[in-house]
Amino acid sequence: MTETERKILTKLVSEPPKFNEPMSRHTTLRVGGIADSIVSVHSLGELQRVVQFALERRLPILVLGEGSNLIVRNGGIQGIVLKLTGELTQINFDTQEVEVGSGTYLPHLLVKAAQRGLSGLECCTGIPGTVGGALISNAGSAEEFIGDRVRRLTILTHEGELRVVERDEIKFGYRQSNLKELGLVIVSVVLGLTFDEPKAIMERIHRRWRYRWVTQPVNMPCAGCIFKNPPNERAGRLLDAAGLKGLRIGDAQVSTIHANFIVNLGNAKANEVLELAELMRRTVKEKFDIALEYEVQIVGKDE
Ligand SMILES: Cc1cc2nc3c(=O)[nH]c(=O)nc-3n(C[C@H](O)[C@H](O)[C@H](O)COP(=O)(O)OP(=O)(O)OC[C@H]3O[C@@H](n4cnc5c(N)ncnc54)[C@H](O)[C@@H]3O)c2cc1C
Repeated sequence: MTETERKILTKLVSEPPKFNEPMSRHTTLRVGGIADSIVSVHSLGELQRVVQFALERRLPILVLGEGSNLIVRNGGIQGIVLKLTGELTQINFDTQEVEVGSGTYLPHLLVKAAQRGLSGLECCTGIPGTVGGALISNAGSAEEFIGDRVRRLTILTHEGELRVVERDEIKFGYRQSNLKELGLVIVSVVLGLTFDEPKAIMERIHRRWRYRWVTQPVNMPCAGCIFKNPPNERAGRLLDAAGLKGLRIGDAQVSTIHANFIVNLGNAKANEVLELAELMRRTVKEKFDIALEYEVQIVGKDE
């Protein structure tokens, strides 16, 4: 990015962009090289201005949520890393529907919905991401997904146009969707929920939380499950049966609690995480003849 482009970008937004910013500060696994720029947009107007500028200058855009499903390579990210905040994190309830800005932190939405006596998002308990990130990968449990609740979305298209996308245009599958093809940025979503007692909803949330605390390394830097579950199997069970728990490359380690998680013991680098993940995949292929597919998204340049 040129000096002139930096100056223009700075004038387009209310919060000064961060230039040459390590992505390790913006991912839950705490790895990742330098991003040319991280631009936080506080309103739809700012978002549209930045996207328009990026399109004119042909600068690549990566929308960043909480970075909880990302491995960013050591070479970092060129162009603009876009964060949605301010007005783009608003939550508006209307009886059994809620319209949510896609920068909203998912655990925050869950609690707000529960307090209103609105159920349907409990499957997302403990997912430390934004609503936008959750929609992209159709986040949830093994059986229930956020996509089940989607009525419609507002997106910015790849041409920078604002557009409403109805449910029947969206394809959700297990940890996947066609949303990246439909648009560049998910701006907001309308979710349909159902009434229940706030106390009963909070109890379900707490039960799921307690289960996570004993079965996952939730207090360690990690990026959630590295691999998707193959049909009728669990990736964690296969990785455990292959004897991989505790295996280390540098400071990247297969969690001793859940074999489908890689944790950062302190100073892990993206290349160590990726080498370890490939070793896990190869071992499962050799032992069980099952090809694991990545659940985490791997982005950025090689060093
Ligand atoms: C401890 C832990 C437990 C987890 N448990 C689960 C679980 O049970 N189930 C589950 O499904 N996942 C789980 N995850 C993974 C992760 O939290 C989810 O995938 C989450 O939804 C990612 O959201 P994010 O905001 O962090 O997205 P990011 O990681 O920041 O981004 C993910 C992708 O979404 C895109 N994106 C984000 N926001 C937008 C937007 N507004 N518009 C367009 N594109 C966008 C990004 O460009 C990127 O491609 C877990 C992660 C951790 C660390």
